[in-house]
This record gives sequence, structure tokens and C-alpha cells, in this order.
Amino acid sequence: MAKKDNLPTGNEERTLRNLARASAHALRERDLFGERRLYVPELLKRLKLTLTKDDRLGARGMIKDDEIKVRGGRWSLDRRLVILHEVGHAVLKRDYPELAQDLPHRQQELFAMHFAANMLLDEKRRVTLIERFRCITSPAELADTAQRFRFPLAIFLQLATWDGETIIGPDKIWLRVKHAANRYTHRDPKLRIISAHFDPAYWYVPANKGFEGLAGESRWLLEIPIGVERHRSPVTFKLQKVAAKSARTKFQQVESVGRLSALSLRPVRGERGAHLLVMLSVA
Ligand SMILES: [Zn+2]
Repeated sequence: MAKKDNLPTGNEERTLRNLARASAHALRERDLFGERRLYVPELLKRLKLTLTKDDRLGARGMIKDDEIKVRGGRWSLDRRLVILHEVGHAVLKRDYPELAQDLPHRQQELFAMHFAANMLLDEKRRVTLIERFRCITSPAELADTAQRFRFPLAIFLQLATWDGETIIGPDKIWLRVKHAANRYTHRDPKLRIISAHFDPAYWYVPANKGFEGLAGESRWLLEIPIGVERHRSPVTFKLQKVAAKSARTKFQQVESVGRLSALSLRPVRGERGAHLLVMLSVA
């Protein structure tokens, strides 16, 4: 998760996103006839990168020189995203060697993320995704749209957020919320924000934090049957708003009244407890 004091400004982020998109586009075009599927092993071969599995790996993936390592386990879309992210680091060095040397770690991560997202989504699908996403008005609709695009919900939300053009404006904040322990201390299980998706020009919503700190008493969410969507309004949200440029702090605590919609999802395999997709409609 980004450190607050290390967030790139909008312009830098946009430049990096465009560079990453151009690199991904060039790699996709070379031998793709129309809508041919991305084949990761072929991409690795073309870039002269090797891939090994390492079960003792601390991170989900890493790259050193021309060797990408990923943690063992089953092959999934999530794993593809991890590999493409590492490929992104290699491509940054290959396509923009000077920039790669000067770029702070956080910006290198951004490039790799955008590269991975753009490898998974070709331009046509990307534009369609943006258009569809902007029209979504409920968690159930979002879950349905993710399914139509054949992406797991978590990845669909990530892709949409990375794009930077999909969630625009202050009025919607999307959250994945689970009954889970603290990501780092593995203690204190409660309803937590697993991932937050919002327009960073307006809000900062940290992940791993308790959901009740944001939306108040939320036990009612635990009682929603799987597959069912419920709403509550008005709810007072405690949010961190991006402060004016002249302000001393980057973020300002604000209370905002709005509507909370939650869809109860099937728990992820191997996990127990609530898993929710939450939409905050901020007035
Ligand atoms: Zn990385």
C-alpha cells in the first residue's frame, strides 16, 4: 500500500501510465493477429526472461536480472498478474533505461502495475471496461460485470483502479471488506477493508483498517445471506479527504453522509467468514 507522503502527483502518474501502456501495446501488437490471447510463456521467451517457482519466496513474485520467481501454488489469473507485473519491471529497464535508473521504487511499482493491467486488457476491452464500469450503480451489478469480463472480482477492481480513468469523481467509493485479522500482525480479527477503490483526487481510503472506523456499527453486514445485496441510508462515513494544495496536511478528516450498499459474496476458497463488496455513495 502506498505511503501517504510518497504518492506521486497526478501528472507523474499519468505519464508513467502512458509509458507503460505504450510498452504493453508494442509487445501485444508484434505477433497478435486481431484478438489473439496473451500467452505468457511466449512473452517471457520473447523477452528472454526465465520463470521459476520458489515456495520459500517472501513476496508473491520478484525479478532479479532476467529471472522471475513466483511462489508455488496453482496457476491462476492472479499468478499471471504477478508474473506480468515482474515482466513490467524488466520492460521498464529495457524500454526506458535512463528513466528506470532515476525512478523511485514507488514509481517503478506503478509502471509495473500499469504494464500488467494493459497486457491483460487490450485497448478495445479497456475502453469497454471503462464505459461499463462508470455506469455501474450497485455491488451486484459490479459483480455481474466482472463475471462478464471473466475476471475475478478482486482483479477486476484492481484493473479498474489502475486505469485511473474509471473511477472518477468523489461520489463513489468501492471496498472489498472481509472479516479478517490484521494483514501484518495477524491479530484482531474484525470487519476490515481489504482493498479500496476510489478517485485519489478526492479521497484516501487505507486498506487493512477496520471497516467500523469508516462506516460505524456494521454488524448488520454479517447477517446478509450470500448472494444478497442490502442497503442502508443515511450512514455517516468518516473519510480522509484530499486537502487543498495550500493546506498543511495532505488529508483532512471529514464526515460525509451517504448510502451504503453491500453484497455478500461467497468466501474465497480456504477462507472463512464474511466477504463483502461494498459501495459507498457519498453525498
Ligand atoms: Zn514490483
